[in-house]
Amino acid sequence: MTSVARRSGPARHAGAEAYPGPRREPAPRPAPSRRPPARPAPARPGNRPARVGARGVLAVIIAGAVAVIALWWHSTPGVHGLGGWLTGAGEVLGLLCGYGVVVLVALMSRLPPLERGLGTDKLARWHAMGGRYIVSLVVAHGLLIVWGYAATAHANVVSESATLLTQYPDVLMATVAGFLLLGIGIVSMRAARRRVRYETWYFVHLYTYLAIALAFSHQLADGAAFVSNLAARFWWSAMYLTVLVLVLWYRVAVPLLSYRRHRFEVLGVKAEGPGVISVYIGGRGLEELDAEPGQFFRWRFMTRSLWWSSHPFSLSAAPGSDMLRITVKNMGDHSQALAQLQPGTRVFAEGPYGAFTPADSGRGAVLLAGGVGITPLRAIFATLPGHVTLIYRASSERDLVFREELDQIAAARGATVHYLVGSRAEIGGDPLSPRVLRSLVPGLDEQEAYVCGPAGMTSTAVRALRAAGVPRQRIHFESFEF
Ligand SMILES: Cc1cc2nc3c(=O)[nH]c(=O)nc-3n(C[C@H](O)[C@H](O)[C@H](O)COP(=O)(O)OP(=O)(O)OC[C@H]3O[C@@H](n4cnc5c(N)ncnc54)[C@H](O)[C@@H]3O)c2cc1C
Repeated sequence: MTSVARRSGPARHAGAEAYPGPRREPAPRPAPSRRPPARPAPARPGNRPARVGARGVLAVIIAGAVAVIALWWHSTPGVHGLGGWLTGAGEVLGLLCGYGVVVLVALMSRLPPLERGLGTDKLARWHAMGGRYIVSLVVAHGLLIVWGYAATAHANVVSESATLLTQYPDVLMATVAGFLLLGIGIVSMRAARRRVRYETWYFVHLYTYLAIALAFSHQLADGAAFVSNLAARFWWSAMYLTVLVLVLWYRVAVPLLSYRRHRFEVLGVKAEGPGVISVYIGGRGLEELDAEPGQFFRWRFMTRSLWWSSHPFSLSAAPGSDMLRITVKNMGDHSQALAQLQPGTRVFAEGPYGAFTPADSGRGAVLLAGGVGITPLRAIFATLPGHVTLIYRASSERDLVFREELDQIAAARGATVHYLVGSRAEIGGDPLSPRVLRSLVPGLDEQEAYVCGPAGMTSTAVRALRAAGVPRQRIHFESFEF
């Protein structure tokens, strides 16, 4: 079932033989003692951005929502009768929608402290969850306002809707925006998402920006909180403008400036296994990117058929000063086309992103890889200090990539690799059960665990690690799906 490499041979760096010439990965730092360091850890080096934790971000978001409710309270002298209550509820929900869309866009703005602190996959999950709330709030806002106005005017809801659409400034535009958001929400629902191509979903999603622009003037023109409150108008507009600048800066300007500085280009492509290739990307001063093993970039390859979309791929070797490597499994049109890349192709790289980076905790570590999920773990395996055990799950021997490199790294650093190959039936049980994991990794519950693989394998592995006694905060995992 498994083959084990536990060697401490001559220090040969994995990847040294790989295309297109000599490269060296930084050697893992010597294993720290098991005791925690007595002195505080040194400040984060260089220009590496600060990380913000999930609790800090949630606290800021909630504080913003409370401020929004306070703004409504301040602008509402009193609530009278059914119409007043319905209208008041509609107004407060409308304000929360206007605030919520800004939060959703900010989460996706690629702001470095967010990307490093929470990780792109968590940000994407929060964004998706928040999107569902916002669409529900938009619908509730519209219904409550129509109902509330109708109740106050003793009119029916149909004629009141017509009045609102035709006689109130910008309500028609906001209604179009509401329907756009509803449509985007429907296309983003899990069941619908599975049926549409990623690119279709992505381009439909871009209409969110149009919806936000259409609804903005309605908020200032009709919102009771803004009509006579200049300060509120100013701060609300400043909030929208700040997020717009963040998006333009981090999603557009930074990749362009990064290209101008680093001049990324394809150096070569190497076949690694059936349907799996590595792309070597050269550039100048790549150490300034401050990329860490385990992180990924969004890559835009400037060929006639690929330039219009960027795709995320993890670094599959520790970043060097003049070369980066990614390893790609053929999953569709884009990943398949990368095999045809020619040396010299220009590349725009957005990143580094991701919080799936080694924690320097002084403990041993177990890395659990499934399929192409080996890519970030391959880079971590070469550089993580302390004793490391890599468990690599694949359905067949042919699907194992980097086998030679992994064995070389294991030999060079005295690490252990277990290859768990074959179907459950062939293996004779669950290869990722708590019992098997404990038998493969002595002292498992004392270690940090890093998991990357298909969604099913990742959740099985995380459950097994928890059952084997590894605390939740020491289990790190990366999802290849946003
Ligand atoms: C953080 C992260 C790191 C990744 N690292 C690697 C890696 O090292 N090696 C590797 O082989 N794969 C990696 N992937 C997966 C890889 O990005 C997708 O397999 C690839 O984009 C598929 O594109 P396609 O057009 O070939 O296939 P499609 O058939 O179009 O897509 C297959 C699936 O990939 C996802 N996908 C497609 N396009 C994108 C996109 N632009 N952005 C995000 N997801 C997309 C969708 O979930 C889609 O359902 C990573 C994904 C993420 C999110």
